[in-house]
Amino acid sequence: MKLPKIRELIEAIKALIVGPYTSKFPKKPHTPYKSFRGQPKFNEDYCVGCLACEQVCPAKAIDHKDIKNGKTAKRIIYHYTDTCIFCGECEAACIAEHKGIKLTNEWDLAFFDRSKAFETIERELVLCEICGSIIAPKKHILWIVEKIGELSFSNPTLYQTRLKELGLADDNLIASIKENARDDRIKTLCAHCRRQTTLTTKNSKTGG
Ligand code: SF4
Ligand code: SF4
Repeated sequence: MKLPKIRELIEAIKALIVGPYTSKFPKKPHTPYKSFRGQPKFNEDYCVGCLACEQVCPAKAIDHKDIKNGKTAKRIIYHYTDTCIFCGECEAACIAEHKGIKLTNEWDLAFFDRSKAFETIERELVLCEICGSIIAPKKHILWIVEKIGELSFSNPTLYQTRLKELGLADDNLIASIKENARDDRIKTLCAHCRRQTTLTTKNSKTGG
């Protein structure tokens, strides 16, 4: 007969005193270790809707839809629990201090209906005031303004979004600029319209 090794004997005695390593789930709820890598979750307070997490996800478990409704639009970001491999790449790439999406220790993810195995987060989108195309999520623009500080005054889309958020956008200023046919210069614009308005202003000044 093969005798047990010392280590195995010690383990067996320990198990008799402190109990087994395995939990009694499903009879009793299971509490995972702190470092357990479970389902990632979006955080309403931090996520700015930039989609960096979608770009890096190796399992394509993050996806989004941009929905326009007249002059407003929103971005819905989906996280598919059934596809996720809990690798943590999304958290590592998250621009919002790695807090926009974070691994949790949630592990009990059984679903009766697989089509419901997802979570979402929504972000308001800023649209171009000329062509109506999507520029970026408002929260992402405000995040950039905060990061670059006074440099944001070089870009009207950035500072106008910030002023609107603070309720300080000055319609009188815009009207006075309009009289000089320069109001397009301080509008919230996509890159294409910004270029077009810049060239148009230049051409009209030079008679081109
Ligand atoms: S944990 Fe990995 S697989 Fe899951 S959503 Fe994040 S990047 Fe994708
Ligand atoms: S802020 Fe983080 S969680 Fe939100 S979309 Fe960007 S990378 Fe993803």
